[in-house]
Amino acid sequence: MSVSPSVESLRGAAVDAVVAASRVCREVQARLVEGASLQKGDKSPVTVADFAAQAIVSHLLAEVAPGVPMVGEEDAAALREPGNEALRSKVVASVQAVLPTLSAEGVLAAIDRGTYGGGPNGRHWVLDPIDGTKGFLRLDQYAVALALIEDGAVVLGVLGCPNLPIDVDDEAAGRGCIFVAIKGGPAVQRGVDDPTEHPISVDPVADPAEARFCESVEKAHTSQSDSAMVAQRLGIQHPPYRIDSQCKYAAVARGDAAVYLRLPTRPGYVEKTWDHAAGVAVIEAAGGTVTDCRGAPLDFSIGRTLEKNKGVIVTNGRFHEQVVAAVRAQMGL
Ligand code: AMP
Ligand code: MG
Repeated sequence: MSVSPSVESLRGAAVDAVVAASRVCREVQARLVEGASLQKGDKSPVTVADFAAQAIVSHLLAEVAPGVPMVGEEDAAALREPGNEALRSKVVASVQAVLPTLSAEGVLAAIDRGTYGGGPNGRHWVLDPIDGTKGFLRLDQYAVALALIEDGAVVLGVLGCPNLPIDVDDEAAGRGCIFVAIKGGPAVQRGVDDPTEHPISVDPVADPAEARFCESVEKAHTSQSDSAMVAQRLGIQHPPYRIDSQCKYAAVARGDAAVYLRLPTRPGYVEKTWDHAAGVAVIEAAGGTVTDCRGAPLDFSIGRTLEKNKGVIVTNGRFHEQVVAAVRAQMGL
């Protein structure tokens, strides 16, 4: 009888996979050239690094836990289409630079492992190979976000932030952070290139008026006008800290900000599990709280989306109810 590996024993493989993918993303971002992206159905830019990162993480995890399926943002359908040979070759070359023995078909198959539907039973990985593709293409912030879900609960999160300053107050400290958390354990930060782990925790600020809040750079992803009104209701003076991707969760987890608001821009949008799962693991282990705009926990047990939730509110946990109340009043929820 096979015994499934413990979450602790999967932590190392998950970190190694995110580090490897983060390095590839960093290299691709450094030489971003025209032609490295194509349009997919939802019009968001998809890059070579996006596919390569999913292939690398998926393949490395399948080696240690072949029975654990994956919800990944990407699939290889576009890469298999005639006319996309050039892009496919770039993806395969990027992956083979890290995994030289993996065939081209092996690369596509690894990407396609991400088509799992999710659900309430057992374990599955959740991966956003590049969260914040718009930030990536702007040469700004993005994240490689990997989480392990067990019976609907997030039990492990690894958040690679290859372009994030190691210390937000000291640019000289360099860039490239990995955040790691196991449910109930401490949240830690390490470097992409430095494996030394340092515990992190949320900003202890207790008065919301003194809090800094972060939100998306992209107006299409959050209602910046509503968050400005919520900030006013809470007496927040600081201007918003706008940063792409789940780097926002990292920012709150290590105290660069105390609140992250993601307020719906339109009624029909449903949040995706891969945009939140890793961030939730890191925030909760760092002492923070995550709910939707009505104060309900994010429900990762449904499938690939957070269908039962509306928007996202993240805080340091000291005044969460106050923020939820302000959001509900503002949004009429
Ligand atoms: P961010 O970098 O925080 O702005 O978020 C990037 C993520 O926003 C992408 O991974 C998309 O899945 C997601 N996204 C796309 N459209 C919307 C929308 N209308 N509302 C909220 N999130 C969105
Ligand atoms: Mg994303």
